[in-house]
Amino acid sequence: MSQTLYDKVFDAHVVRRLSSGQYQLFIGLHMIHEVTSPQAFEMLRDRNLSVPFPERTVATVDHIVPTEDQSRPYKDDLAEQMMKAVETNCQQFGIRLYQPGSGKQGVVHIVAPEQGLTQPGMTVACGDSHTATHGAFGAISFGIGTSQVRDVLATQTLSMGRLKVRRIEINGKLKSGVYAKDVILYILRKLTAKGGVGYAYEFAGSTIEAMSMDERMTVCNMAIEGGARCGYINPDETTFAYLKGRPEAPTGAAWDKAVEWWKSIASDAGAVYDSVVKYDAADIEPTVTWGISPDQSVGVNESIPSADTYAPSERPNIEEAYEYMDLKPGQPIAGTKVDVVFIGSCTNGRISDLREAARVASLHGGKVPSNVKAFVVPGSEIVKKLAESEGLHEVFLKHGFEWREAGCSMCLAMNPDKLVGRQISASTSNRNFKGRQGSPSGRTLLLSPAMAAAAALEGKISDVRQILSKEGK
Ligand code: SF4
Repeated sequence: MSQTLYDKVFDAHVVRRLSSGQYQLFIGLHMIHEVTSPQAFEMLRDRNLSVPFPERTVATVDHIVPTEDQSRPYKDDLAEQMMKAVETNCQQFGIRLYQPGSGKQGVVHIVAPEQGLTQPGMTVACGDSHTATHGAFGAISFGIGTSQVRDVLATQTLSMGRLKVRRIEINGKLKSGVYAKDVILYILRKLTAKGGVGYAYEFAGSTIEAMSMDERMTVCNMAIEGGARCGYINPDETTFAYLKGRPEAPTGAAWDKAVEWWKSIASDAGAVYDSVVKYDAADIEPTVTWGISPDQSVGVNESIPSADTYAPSERPNIEEAYEYMDLKPGQPIAGTKVDVVFIGSCTNGRISDLREAARVASLHGGKVPSNVKAFVVPGSEIVKKLAESEGLHEVFLKHGFEWREAGCSMCLAMNPDKLVGRQISASTSNRNFKGRQGSPSGRTLLLSPAMAAAAALEGKISDVRQILSKEGK
């Protein structure tokens, strides 16, 4: 019978059906970081449990890591304690840890693919909402809570219900100045932040197939923002080419066998979906969020929508968003002044993101105005090294951006990178919730790295296509 990738991978990992109706699912790859793992290890100690598959868990530190001065001990005592806890726990339970200075540290959802740890057909879990990122490889990948981190450490399994599958097909060529970030923001706007509850999202169509792995990761990263438990893309030659030669990827005969298996787990042509939606790439514009949920966005040349364009049940949220953001319906988003620009995170902290932002800076030719703070945070030590080898850091510095060390930085602001007061940030991260970037009243506009670079140089939300047109593109 024809099946989706989701069903094939799920079935291949079922250990047994539980009396609750859920399934006990084997987890192929478990990633941990310093924020959601300490309590899980304490729970193991309380019950005198060990980690039976330590080689299937990999740790890094990202959320609390400072991106300026990384000398130890960290100035923030709590950050230092968390760092020590992850070091002790990994040493005691025999788990690999990618520390700052190891050359492999970075945001958890960037380092695992870089090392070739994330592979098609896997089940992947991590105590972090944006674990959906790994679905870009054709893995079933989801965020879990601290007690589930404990469960995976202790048993390498999780209890889970089966999801429905929605195929989201985007076809056609993206216009100049439109990127993977715009694609996912467009999808979220169409399907809403809750539209994916109970679903796995399968992203497909010629637009998705033409994307690089970096771009596919950006799309899958934000599946969770649409309410979906996970998002994935069927593996293909682009996936295999990315993985080939990575440190943890199979080699020799094992590689050939793996590719054969990876091809077999892609959704069958006749697979039946619980829902199918189709969009045209030509309809997607450079997009900016204006509200307090990632689905509240507009094309850069649109105005803030009126509440009556939303379903009645949504209108209280829309009114709340106008008030918090201090933006009014009918007001154009372009021209909104920004105080801070953050380029980074597991959504857009990869090398291709930094290349595009640097290209925009070079084409623009100007400098970030003195009243704007703009900073670029590579998603990993590998991204940083590569960017520096290409001279991207020099481009950013020349145009008035700060160049930082790898980490989550102002995506969640659990480190010194924080908004102050009512500052407005143009951010390439994934959440614009109230207070997300470190100030309880701070405001966030989500957008692509190219649009963020344009906002930094102009000091306001601007259509990046005006800058790109200098290149005749
Ligand atoms: S970059 Fe942001 S979303 Fe990604 S893992 Fe870090 S805090 Fe979470």
